[in-house]
Amino acid sequence: MSNYFKTYPDSEGFFDGYGGAFIPPALEVEMKKIADAYHTISKSHNFIQELRSIRKHYQGRPTPVYYCSRLSEKYGGRIYLKREDLNHTGAHKLNHCMGEALLAKHLGKKKLIAETGAGQHGVALATAAAYFGLECEIHMGEVDIKKQHPNVVRMKILGAEIVPVTKGLKTLKEAVDSAFEAYLKDPENTIYCIGSVVGPHPFPMMVRDFQRVVGIEAREQYLEMTGELPDHVVACVGGGSNAIGIFSAFLEDDECQIHGVEPAGRSLDLGDHAATMKFGSPGVIHGFKCYMLKDEQGEPAPVYSVASGLDYPGVGPEHSMLKDTEAVNYDIINDEDAIDAFYELSRLEGIIPAIESAHAVAYALKLAKAHPQKSILVNLSGRGDKDIDYVVETYGLPD
Ligand SMILES: *Cc1c(COP(=O)(O)O)cnc(C)c1O
Repeated sequence: MSNYFKTYPDSEGFFDGYGGAFIPPALEVEMKKIADAYHTISKSHNFIQELRSIRKHYQGRPTPVYYCSRLSEKYGGRIYLKREDLNHTGAHKLNHCMGEALLAKHLGKKKLIAETGAGQHGVALATAAAYFGLECEIHMGEVDIKKQHPNVVRMKILGAEIVPVTKGLKTLKEAVDSAFEAYLKDPENTIYCIGSVVGPHPFPMMVRDFQRVVGIEAREQYLEMTGELPDHVVACVGGGSNAIGIFSAFLEDDECQIHGVEPAGRSLDLGDHAATMKFGSPGVIHGFKCYMLKDEQGEPAPVYSVASGLDYPGVGPEHSMLKDTEAVNYDIINDEDAIDAFYELSRLEGIIPAIESAHAVAYALKLAKAHPQKSILVNLSGRGDKDIDYVVETYGLPD
């Protein structure tokens, strides 16, 4: 396992058969250029120093690990949060956006292009673009534009151009398609900054590498606080970037059980959830192989979750491998339990989580009830400011 990061992915971007780059030749050439540049630049002293400095002075890293005493008292267990909600812009996504944008700067690109679901990736990328003085174009499904209004306004304030996507279900999957198309029109001057550990090689590897900081910090902080390692590590999985960030530091620790939590949505019928690894099968989506939810034709199925950032019919190739090797246990949490956890964390700890992160919290509460003697470290991937209006209007306030 100690060679894990050298072994995975292999030079073609495969994680035991998942991943790779199933893309048109034109795009293949561009991806190869980015992969080569990344290999050289990411190892350079300048790049490493600049990223370190940005993380410390701009993003506010390290983010703390926090012990939830009231939540633990009520549910049992000892529940800790890695506070990625306190990362600048309110989620873990800035970790890979600053990395991707720094790479873009080194490559002499002028414009960053990306898709966004919940709007968090768009806000993080628009932030990175402003920081580096780059242009920014964000593709977003019309449904998400309505649902995530505050983030749309934030992106505009930050100077990004929003491209509404009106095809299909008008959510994340279509936004990815649209952003890819825009990128292919001018790969010389632009770079596609994907929002998770998905897409063709080298993105799943690069985004993982940029997110590893979460796990490296969390493991050290947790050890320092408690003198031991957590019994359980939990994170929500959309594409899987926040999850791989924290998981990657614990893969060698046999005493830690690692849990990835996918959204079970409003029912377990196809179209009502986005539990890709629970109910999917291997296939190719957006240029890479992974577990995938398919319709009868074998095309990506429609998906749904109350959390816009989790409703994707594919998942990162590394997670697909970690499921098969059983290094990680992948399970599901539905909308209702996520909303309950959203309010529980808010009222017991004064922390309003992103609905995405609330899925991980909900799973931690179940673990705590079942194993009251155990410790649980949850990656709180983001804050819930973006979700407050939607949650209160849709579900009302609890008593
Ligand atoms: C985007 C997002 C996610 C899902 O993305 P991953 O790549 O699976 O981490 C989870 N939490 C928050 C707060 C997000 O913004």
